Amino acid sequence: MAETPEELYERVKDSLRMPPVEEWETFPFEGEMRPRDLLPPVEEEKPRFGEGGVDCRRCQASDDDYIWTSEHWRVMGLGPTGLPVVVILEPREHLGDLGDMPDELLANLGVMLGRVERAVRSVGEIGRVHVCKWGDGSEHLHWWFMARPARIPQLIGNFAAIWDDILPPVPEEIWRASLDAVAAALR
Ligand SMILES: [Zn+2]
Repeated sequence: MAETPEELYERVKDSLRMPPVEEWETFPFEGEMRPRDLLPPVEEEKPRFGEGGVDCRRCQASDDDYIWTSEHWRVMGLGPTGLPVVVILEPREHLGDLGDMPDELLANLGVMLGRVERAVRSVGEIGRVHVCKWGDGSEHLHWWFMARPARIPQLIGNFAAIWDDILPPVPEEIWRASLDAVAAALR
C-alpha cells in the first residue's frame, strides 16, 4: 500500500538530512547550507504546459524552429547556455508520457536516442552526453541531450544540468557551429 503524500510529509518534514555536499567534487556551491523546509502536499498537481495539446508550443512550432526534422521526430537546439551543446528530441505527435507511446514509435525511439547522442558527441571536446527525461514542465514528450565538456572533472555527473546555468554562455559563433555539426551528423 503506497504512502499518501500527507503520510510522507508528516514522516519526513522534521527529519530532513543535510548530505555531505562539501565532500562532493561536482557540487557547484559552497558555504553554509541547510535543506529548505518541505512544504505540505497540494490538493492537486498543476497542469503541465500544453496539457492535452491545448496551446502546446511544441505542437505550434514550425520545422524552421528545429535543427533537424523527420516524419516522426524533431530536434531543437537550446541556448547558447553554459554547456557546449544542449538539444531536445521530441516526437511530432503530442504524447504526454513514455508509456503513452505506441510500440512502433517506442522502438524507433531507441534508434533516435542513439543517433542524437552520437551526433552531439561528434561536435568534439565532449566528455559525455547526458540523456535525460523529466517532463514535469511541458507535457509534450521531450528528451534532453546535455553535452558536458571533456577533461573538467568537476563538471561530471548530474550536476552538469546545474553547471549549465552557472558557466557563462558559450560564444554565439562556437555554439552555432556546434549545432550545425549536430544537424549535419543527423542528416
Ligand atoms: Zn504538443
